[in-house]
Formats: sequence, C-alpha cells, structure tokens
Amino acid sequence: TMSSLPKTMKAVVIEKTGGTDVLQYKTDVPVPEPKGDEVLIKNEYIGINYIDTYFRSGVYNPPSFPYILGREGAGTIAALGPSAHSDLTVGARVAYMGQNAYAEYTPASSTYVTTLPDSIDAKIGAAAPLQALTALTLIREAYAVQKGDWVLVTAAAGGVGLWLCQLLKAVGARTIATASTEEKRELAKQNGAEIVLGYYAEDRDQFVKKVLEITGGEGVHAVFDSVGKDTFDSSLAVVRRKGTMVSFGNASGPVTGFSLARLSAKNVKLLRTTLFNYIATREEFQQYSKELWGFIEKDGLNVKIHDIYPLEDIKRATEDIEGRKTTGKLLLKP
Ligand code: NDP
Repeated sequence: TMSSLPKTMKAVVIEKTGGTDVLQYKTDVPVPEPKGDEVLIKNEYIGINYIDTYFRSGVYNPPSFPYILGREGAGTIAALGPSAHSDLTVGARVAYMGQNAYAEYTPASSTYVTTLPDSIDAKIGAAAPLQALTALTLIREAYAVQKGDWVLVTAAAGGVGLWLCQLLKAVGARTIATASTEEKRELAKQNGAEIVLGYYAEDRDQFVKKVLEITGGEGVHAVFDSVGKDTFDSSLAVVRRKGTMVSFGNASGPVTGFSLARLSAKNVKLLRTTLFNYIATREEFQQYSKELWGFIEKDGLNVKIHDIYPLEDIKRATEDIEGRKTTGKLLLKP
C-alpha cells in the first residue's frame, strides 16, 4: 500500500524548456500516487532516449510544468491504481514506457507496462521499450522486411540503430549501416551490419554511387532514417524503384519543405512514423514486447550499454547523447 512508501523522492525536473541548464536534480519531489489504470513503479534502471532531449529543448512540448522528463524504465511494482490491469501485481518485475521516468518512482499506465521474463535482466528491460520496440515495429510495419532485402540504417551505432542491425540480421536482411566514426561503424558491424559506411556529408554523390554499386545498381529496398535533415536527400537517393523511405527521427533537425512530386521519380513509399501509433493498445504493446523477449532469448539479441550514470548526473548524460558521444544505450540509476 501507499502507506509503506516514502513521501518524497529524487527526480529530475524542468520548469521550462531550454539548454541542459534547465535540468534540475531534486531530492524532495512528492512520490506520486497511481491513478486510474496506473501502477507505481520503483525504478531499478531508467532508459535515456534521444526524444528526452527534444522535450527538454522545446522541439516537442511537455504537457505542463514542473515536468519530470524520461520515458522508460524497469523495476518493481510498488503500488496499484484503482483500475490497474489484473495481470499486474505488487512486487512484479516490469518494464514500461510512459512519462516521468527520471525519478525513483514513476506512475505508468497498465497499457504500457509489461512483466519481465526471469531471463531478462532489468538493464535490458529499461533499455528496450522505446528503442527496441521502435526497431521491431519499423521492420514489421513501416516496411515488412523480407529475407535477402537490402536495408540502409542511419546512426547505426545508436540505441535504435544497434537494435535495427541485430533484428535485420536475425530476419535475414542485408544491412548497410552509416555512422560518423570508425569505432561506431565497427560496432554496427559487430551487431550484424554487412556493410558500413560514413555519411559522406561532404560528398553525397560518392555515397549514392557506393550504395548503388553494393546493391547491383538498384538501390536498397528500404531506408530507416533517424538523422532527418542532414541525410534525407542522400537516403531518398539510394532507395530503389518501388522502395520504401522511412523517416523516424530528427537528430540533425526536422525535414521540412518536401515536394511530393519527388516521389514519382521511383514510385517510392514515404513514411514519417512514431512508435506510439504502432502500439496504441495494450494488446499491441504486449504482443511486440513478447516478440522482442523472444528475439532476445532465442536469437541472442543484446544491448550494448554505453554507461550507467547516477540520476544526479543527468546533465553529463544528456550532453553525451546530444554530443554524439554515446553508442548503444545510456541508463540512469536512481
Ligand atoms: P541515438 O543513440 O541514436 O543517438 C542519436 C545519434 O544520432 C547520435 O549518436 C549520432 O550518431 C546521430 N546523429 C546524426 N546527426 C546528429 C546530430 N546533428 N546531432 C546529434 N546526433 C546526431 O538515439 P536514440 O536511439 O534514442 O534515437 C535515435 C533516433 O531515433 C532519434 O532521432 C530519435 O528521435 C528517433 N526515434 C524515433 C522514434 C519514433 O517513434 N519515431 C522512437 C525512438 C527514437 P552518429 O554520430 O553516428 O551520426
């Protein structure tokens, strides 16, 4: 019951959007009470995602202030809201996605809470919900990847990127991975990419020529592009006729001013996706989570943990991910 819980907790709060200076580490934030179908989770690990930086900087807007950032974690259920799902019980080990994760305790809707199989540790649990489910829904729904397909993945050594490399390998696709440094490209290769390339930001033509060469002159069946503004044109240029271009992130800034007529050059399918529209119901979230645990258990998928920072080091953690210094997953420990 709530009575056995502390009254206050540590959390990272923002009172306005802006640079990393707006991040405030506090030790006296009230422990929230789970409402409606929420359960209260005591976080063991908290996952950092690039989207957290959009909500801090104002690219996306927090619903209200003061606001606790963070969108995923793993831990144990500490209390149940009045209409929590009957599958969820106090003490259960769970992973979740939602809001207000940069804290000791987080209330999360039953819709986005899944119990962890014994074989999945809390670090993978905290690392997987956003990034791995993004990768999994992309290869199943945005473009249903088939064995033997050529696929281009940008920022391939990042959180989503490394899951994409591993999942694509597991389903028998052939991945061309791009990343900014030799070390990152090596990591993408270790995670299943067949070919690794730099972005050739200075020389788009050379990049395009190279990808066409690799794919027998035809281009790739699909691109999963999370970099946005800087890579959109080169990504579109290497999609084959009737291929699929999926844009799912803005790490270099959003893509704007696109002229539809450009698609007719190759009858390309263009999507701008978000994870939430692939897992809008509890059934969808549970089904994809189950499929993911299966990949981890049967195909040996794993997550490269870049580092685990104490919650109070949130500024350093944020600067690392925005500064392109991280590979794989960055976790916080409350
Ligand atoms: P990452 O770990 O991939 O970190 C971002 C990476 O983007 C960097 O490491 C860097 O890799 C690359 N990058 C390219 N250009 C820039 C730039 N100008 N500034 C900073 N980084 C840059 O983060 P995540 O795995 O959390 O997310 C990856 C992307 O996917 C993000 O854009 C995120 O918003 C998006 N995303 C979208 C979702 C959706 O539902 N649509 C869900 C989850 C994530 P390198 O140095 O190799 O270029």
